[in-house]
Amino acid sequence: MKQFKAESKRLLDLMIHSIYTHREIFLRELISNASDALDKLYYKSLQDGDTGLSREDFCITIEIDKENRNLLITDNGCGMTKEDLENNLGVIAKSDSFNFKQTQEKQEEIDIIGQFGVGFYSAFMVSDCVTVRTRAYDSEEAYEWKSKGAEGYVITDCEKQSHGTQIILHIKPNTEEENYDEYLDSFQIQSIVRKYSDYIRYPIQMDVEKSRLKEGSGEQPEYETIVEKTTLNSMVPIWRKAKSEVSEEEYASFYREKFYDYEKPLKIIHSNTEGVSTYSALLFIPGKAPSDYYTKQYETGLQLYASGVMIMERCEDLLPEYFGFVRGLVDSQDLSLNISREMLQHDRQLKLIENRLEKKIKTELEFMMNNDRELYETFFQNFGLQLKFGVYAQYGMHKELLQDLLLFYSSHEKKLVSLKEYVSRMKEGQEAIYYVCGDSLARIEQMPQTELLKDKGMEMLYLIDDVDEFALKTIMNYDGKPFKNISSDDLNLESEEEKKSNEEKIQQNKDLLDFVKESLGDRVAKVVLSQRLKSHPVCLSTEGEITLEMEKVLNAMPSGSHVKAVRVLEMNPNHHIFTTLQTLYKNDKDKLKIYADLLYGQALLMEGMPIEDPVAFSNKICELMQ
Ligand code: ADP
Repeated sequence: MKQFKAESKRLLDLMIHSIYTHREIFLRELISNASDALDKLYYKSLQDGDTGLSREDFCITIEIDKENRNLLITDNGCGMTKEDLENNLGVIAKSDSFNFKQTQEKQEEIDIIGQFGVGFYSAFMVSDCVTVRTRAYDSEEAYEWKSKGAEGYVITDCEKQSHGTQIILHIKPNTEEENYDEYLDSFQIQSIVRKYSDYIRYPIQMDVEKSRLKEGSGEQPEYETIVEKTTLNSMVPIWRKAKSEVSEEEYASFYREKFYDYEKPLKIIHSNTEGVSTYSALLFIPGKAPSDYYTKQYETGLQLYASGVMIMERCEDLLPEYFGFVRGLVDSQDLSLNISREMLQHDRQLKLIENRLEKKIKTELEFMMNNDRELYETFFQNFGLQLKFGVYAQYGMHKELLQDLLLFYSSHEKKLVSLKEYVSRMKEGQEAIYYVCGDSLARIEQMPQTELLKDKGMEMLYLIDDVDEFALKTIMNYDGKPFKNISSDDLNLESEEEKKSNEEKIQQNKDLLDFVKESLGDRVAKVVLSQRLKSHPVCLSTEGEITLEMEKVLNAMPSGSHVKAVRVLEMNPNHHIFTTLQTLYKNDKDKLKIYADLLYGQALLMEGMPIEDPVAFSNKICELMQ
C-alpha cells in the first residue's frame, strides 16, 4: 500500500471527518472531473484529425447499485495512465485554487469546502471506499486505484473494455447525524445533478424509473413502471441561455464556482451578439479587488470558448489592460477550435470582439455611475486606481475613453465627483479645474494653500492617490479647461488692484526677501510674497513641471529616479509674523536667519515632507523658547 503525500492526507482527513453539511457537492466535483476528461479527449480528437471519435458519443453515466451500496460515475473521456493515477490521485492537485496549508480554523476549512470544492477527495465525505478504474485513450492497459481513506491507496492492473474512467463509491452506512442513504436514492441524485451540473456540456445519463400509461388499458387507466435512460442535465451553458432564463442567484453561484471568489459579483454583464461576429459574453465585475490585483502576480484575461469548448483559460487579448479586473468568458462560433495561441493574437474576429467588449464595459460602467452611484463608488474604491493608471499609461492613449469614468473627492460636495460634474458647476469666469494633492483628505483640508480658493468659494479636487496628479497631467484639459495645481501653478485669481498693491509690496520688501533667500541657500529657488495665503505665514510651492507630490511619488519608485521639485517659499505679507520679520531685518539679522530656517521647516512639515535636519530644527526652537 502506498501512502498519500502529506497535504493530501490532511485534506483526506478533513473530508472523512468533515462536519460539512453540503456533502452532496462531491457529485459536482466528480462530474466536473469527468467533463474535463471528455473535454481533453474531444480537444485531442480535433487536433489529431480523424480519430473516429464523435462528440455525440461522449457522455457521463451515473448508476446506482443499492444492493451493494455503490454509486458509480463513468465517463468515456481521456482516462488515466498508471503514472497519471499516481500523480493525480496520490497528491493534492488543487493547491492553486485554495491555500489549504494556511487555514487553521475549522470554520475556515468548512468555508473552503463550500466555496471551492476540493476535487476528487470530496468523494470521501460520503464514501468509505473509493475505487477508480481507468484506461487511458490510446492505451491497452487499464488500472484500478483503491483507497479506504487516510491509510493509503493500492494500484493494481485490471480489465476495462474501453477508454475512460469509472469511479465507484461505496456509500457509508447511515449514522445518527447523517443519512447517507440519500446518495443511493435516484430522485435525490437527479436533483443534485440538476442543481450543480446543469450546464455541463455532455449528457449526464442515468436509468430512471418512470411510470407510463399501459398500452391497451381500457376505461380505467392503468400505469406501468419502466426504466428509461434519461439525460439529467439541460446541457445549455448558462451563457447561451437568454438573460431572462437565468436568475441572479444562478449567475452568482456560477461566478463563485468558476472564478473562485467568495463574494458575489458587483455587476453581471451578459450579452449574446449576432452579426459581424457572433458570440456570447458573460462578464463579471468582482465585488472586491483580489488581494493580488495590483501586483504582477495577477493575471488578466477572459476564458475563451469556441462553440462551447474551452480553448483558453486566460485570453489576454480579449480585454484591454485597464479593464483587467473584469472576469468572465467569451464563447464564439467564429473561432476555429484548434487555433494556436500565436494565431489567436492576429485573429481578426478576436480583435472585433475585444473592441465590442471594451465599449460594452464602458457603457455599463457609465450607466452604473449615473444610475447607481453608490454601487459605482464601491466599484471605484476597488478598481478606480486601475482606471487612473489606464489614463496615464501609454502616453494617454486611452484618456478619452476613460476620463469620464474617473471620480475625485470634491472640497464642495465632500464626496466623489466626476470631471463632468465639476465642470458643470464651475463659477462664471472660472478658467481652470483646481486640484490639490496630499496624503489624506484631512491633511489637505488643513493645507494653507487651500485658503484662497476656499475664500473665493471655488471648488477643488482633493487628490490622495499617487497616480492622481499624473493622470490629470495626462488629460491636460477637460472640456477645454486646464487643470491647475493650487500649490504650484499661477492661479491668476487676483484683481488688477490686488496685483498692483502686491507689486508695491514686493518692491518695498525686496531686500528682506533677498536676504531670506540667501540665508536658505539652494534649498529654495525663490522666496516670494504669496497670493494664496490667508491665515498661515508661509507655504511651499514649486516651479516647473515637477510638483512636490510628483517628487514624492517618483522618488519612492523602485527604479529610484532622483528628481527634485524646484521649491519656492511663499510668505504671507499680511501675517503678523511678516511684521516681525521686517523688524528683525532692521535690528537682528542673525535671528532673522533662524526664523527663516524655522519657517521653511514649517512649510515642509505642512506639505507632509521631512525636514532635512530635525535635530537642528528642534535646537532652534529651544533656543527661541529660552
Ligand atoms: P482538479 O480537478 O482540480 O485537478 P481533482 O483532485 O479533482 O483536482 O483531480 C485531480 C486530477 O485527477 C485531475 O486534474 C485529472 O487529471 C485527474 N482526474 C480526476 N478525475 C478524472 C477522470 N474522470 N478522468 C481523467 N482524469 C481524471
